[in-house]
Amino acid sequence: MDSGLALDIATDLTTEIGPRLYGSDDERQAVEWATKRFQEYGFDKIWTESFPVDRGWERGDETAAVTYPSPQKLVITALGGSVATPPEGIEAEIALFKTIGALKSQPAGSLKGKIAVVTQPMGIGQYGKISGPIRGNGPSEAAKRGAVAFLMRSAGTSKNRFAHTGATRYQKDVTRIPAAALSVPDALQLDRLSERFDRMRIKLVLTPKQLGTVTSQNLIAEITGSEKPEEIVLLGAHIDSWDLGTGAIDDGAGVGVVMAASKLIRELPTPPKRTIRVVLFGAEEIGIYGGNFYVENNRTDLDRHIIAAEADAGQGPIHTFNVGVGDPLEPTLSVIRDALKPLGVKPGRAKSRGGPDIAPMANVGVPVAGLDMFTEDYFDLHHTANDTIDQIVPERINQSAAVYVTFAYLASELGGYYRAK
Ligand SMILES: [Zn+2]
Repeated sequence: MDSGLALDIATDLTTEIGPRLYGSDDERQAVEWATKRFQEYGFDKIWTESFPVDRGWERGDETAAVTYPSPQKLVITALGGSVATPPEGIEAEIALFKTIGALKSQPAGSLKGKIAVVTQPMGIGQYGKISGPIRGNGPSEAAKRGAVAFLMRSAGTSKNRFAHTGATRYQKDVTRIPAAALSVPDALQLDRLSERFDRMRIKLVLTPKQLGTVTSQNLIAEITGSEKPEEIVLLGAHIDSWDLGTGAIDDGAGVGVVMAASKLIRELPTPPKRTIRVVLFGAEEIGIYGGNFYVENNRTDLDRHIIAAEADAGQGPIHTFNVGVGDPLEPTLSVIRDALKPLGVKPGRAKSRGGPDIAPMANVGVPVAGLDMFTEDYFDLHHTANDTIDQIVPERINQSAAVYVTFAYLASELGGYYRAK
């Protein structure tokens, strides 16, 4: 818990490279940066696997304002993958809905020519309720009813005046309309305006570029096991980030945690019995491209993965150890549970899917561990301009790295594993 290595790594990554949008030169430079680090740490094998991402994208200008009845600027940000407005923008009457359900109950054609606005708030623990149904599907649901653009209240919990990006997902054969998120205070302002005025108009300008198919990559680095080198303990995080901040909380912290944990194991006087494999996944933010490609590209080797864990929920601290396997893994798991207790980690009963990039592995039978992090402030920060290294508290990330090194080391040493079919 005294090691500051995870924070040092996250600081270097977010300072020397900065934001790391999927498929960009920044993401590639981050992979080169991490490759050099793993070489310096003396890892035995380091390689990348590249894959296409069919939704290359680059942010442009993004402005919005109420033009009628009380002109005022709005703080917005384009959703990842959004199409552009015409260069001069779209100016139209709005149709405001307090929930996505209210929008979806409207008949076809009823939003013709309007900008659809959904101001549904996100409560604590409700990210999944907003990110898929509203951020992912909202633009297409609005377009099906004739809307020309889509605005949503940010999928975040902060009342600071910055907006929260994240991937949207246009449905097939539905007109693609420009889509952006309003900061929470701006969404609340629209709610108040809608209570006072029957009609409102907004002007929206978004100029992102669609780049077609781009290339991303997963970086894989291994410490070869001394007794059972064919058996793999996998630690994951994602190297890409959104572009508004520097991707410190999401997921520079996770990169720092798994790189630090594996480096501390590398420094031990005797090597681990099993192979420790670190995977820094690419293109997570636009739809888990790296995690899905990993399963496809390593399918014949997946039965050698004895357990996987992923750090992608911020800086920690880690409060609960859950597992997602077909078997209780005793006595190995009870040893790990006992070792994590002094670090403040409780044994959990929830069945874990591990994390976004290792869920595809879990889905095909790879045992996963969920080292669940405290996330109450995570959704104030990630995907926003405030996702910077200054938000990281040393004691919190240090604990996360200590938990990962304890988990990974014991997982590499102990017997009694359930094996994936
Ligand atoms: Zn993430």
